[in-house]
Amino acid sequence: MNISHIFRRAVVAAAVTLVIPVAMAQSGNIAERFGKAVNAHVDRNYAEVEALYKDLHAHPELAFEEINTSKRLAKALRDLGFEVTEGLGKTGVVGLLRNGSGLTIMVRTELDALPMEEKTGLPYASKVKTGYLGKETFVAHSCGHDIHMASWVGAARTLVAMKSQWKGTLMFVAQPAEEVLGGAKAMLDDGLFKRFGKPDFAFALHTWPMAYGEIGFNVGPVTSNSDSFEAVFHGRGAHGSAPDKSIDPILIASRFVVDVQGVISREKDPFQFGVFSIGAIQGGTSGNIIPDNVALRGTIRSYDQGVRSKLHEGIQRTAKGAAVAAGAPEPEVKIIAGGNAVVNNAALVERTEATLISALGVNVKRMPPITPSEDFSEYAGAGVQVMFFLVGVYDPKDVVASRLPGAKPLPGNHSPFFAPVPEPTIKTSIKAMSLAVLTALGN
Ligand SMILES: [Zn+2]
Ligand SMILES: [Zn+2]
Repeated sequence: MNISHIFRRAVVAAAVTLVIPVAMAQSGNIAERFGKAVNAHVDRNYAEVEALYKDLHAHPELAFEEINTSKRLAKALRDLGFEVTEGLGKTGVVGLLRNGSGLTIMVRTELDALPMEEKTGLPYASKVKTGYLGKETFVAHSCGHDIHMASWVGAARTLVAMKSQWKGTLMFVAQPAEEVLGGAKAMLDDGLFKRFGKPDFAFALHTWPMAYGEIGFNVGPVTSNSDSFEAVFHGRGAHGSAPDKSIDPILIASRFVVDVQGVISREKDPFQFGVFSIGAIQGGTSGNIIPDNVALRGTIRSYDQGVRSKLHEGIQRTAKGAAVAAGAPEPEVKIIAGGNAVVNNAALVERTEATLISALGVNVKRMPPITPSEDFSEYAGAGVQVMFFLVGVYDPKDVVASRLPGAKPLPGNHSPFFAPVPEPTIKTSIKAMSLAVLTALGN
């Protein structure tokens, strides 16, 4: 853990002690009023929800191809009495349940899986293959979106069963293509908030490789801004034995790869998060030919907009500088803005936190933001106050063992071995989401 996290935690801890008494007084109420009923409904529905989870897990579908997945979720909502619209943003689903006058609360799940082979060996592991970028690939729910879907259906069932105890509107949104960061935008462009109304608050949860029963979140940024980087360094090709006849783009690209980390370590505020990773270098065909050009691709991550601009400028400048130093033509550098950081609304987090602590105890905690990105930020960008929280998936004993010196870390999201323990993970997710919605409804 680095010092910025410790500092941030200290600030957050100080803020929590100031804020909780008021929020706790109202939300403790919510936990007392609804906690037992929520637990009972979760237990009653669990067998069916787990069956749905295992079936979704065994039948994953890729981004924007979630045809059967979205049909199943649409049917689950329709059976509960929601008005359901399918096909929004290609494969998205919107379900509205109007239950008297009050606020509208949105709950989002993602629908998509990943183009990768699952290697968990679980009895319900995916063996699905499909075409992807002109090749055949395996498909797997290795990011836990199947847990999110099962919990989403579980929360809908719980809230519908408790309908006589609250007023307002539920807006359940199943979004395609989170992994490629296009699904939220596709739904918004297709009129999600124009046709169905803008919710007052929106929640989403995500699995994370921590102990089941644990729930983690923060105020402010909780995931990163994500931008992609592409560059082509041009040189002059020549025989490998005659470098003086060349302008060597491999040397230029190599200098850039090393020098650009100076933007991170020397130009960025060391207390601020920022990452630049080059994930692909392509150039040349043979050991004795200096090629004409070299192409690089990478990813840029940050939480803060100022840091984000600073990294973009420094990366461009360093790329140009590397070419100038070698007397090469100006490189082509493209930085493509991707998703924005998810920024949790402070007041919403404080109210929800108070309920979750009263109902679920010490495993509910604030944690530093995570470095991946999420297009749940699109809904916040459209003017909705949001809260995104993480739920643990592994046996607490295994988590402790994995932190011992020399131990292997537990498989995280996108690992072929990612294997949440279903029952405690799903039950905690349904309870937390149902209580979050009941708190936000505020009646
Ligand atoms: Zn993912
Ligand atoms: Zn995900």
